[in-house]
Amino acid sequence: MPKKLPGSKDIPPAGVTWKPATEYRTGDWRSKRPIRDEEKCTRCLTCWIFCPDAAISWDGQDIHFDLNYCKGCGICAEECPVNCIEMEDE
Ligand code: SF4
Ligand code: SF4
Repeated sequence: MPKKLPGSKDIPPAGVTWKPATEYRTGDWRSKRPIRDEEKCTRCLTCWIFCPDAAISWDGQDIHFDLNYCKGCGICAEECPVNCIEMEDE
């Protein structure tokens, strides 16, 4: 009989990582990178809020993508209210 794979209920609750996301360079995994249209961008920071890897920073005037940590998930592009981020193949 095949071994049953663990499901979500088998994983202990409140699992934690011992380092923040910025301790792991995830950029090497990326197959797509975010490209922003700077003219269209309104600097609303929605992408900054949603990025799960803290790969988007704000310097007070503009946003910046840190490709050392961006893993190319495309959430920023999905959430951008003016659709000014395109995901481009690496
Ligand atoms: S969500 Fe879109 S418009 Fe807003 S700051 Fe990010 S790229 Fe610019
Ligand atoms: S593609 Fe994903 S990881 Fe990269 S900047 Fe956008 S939301 Fe962050």
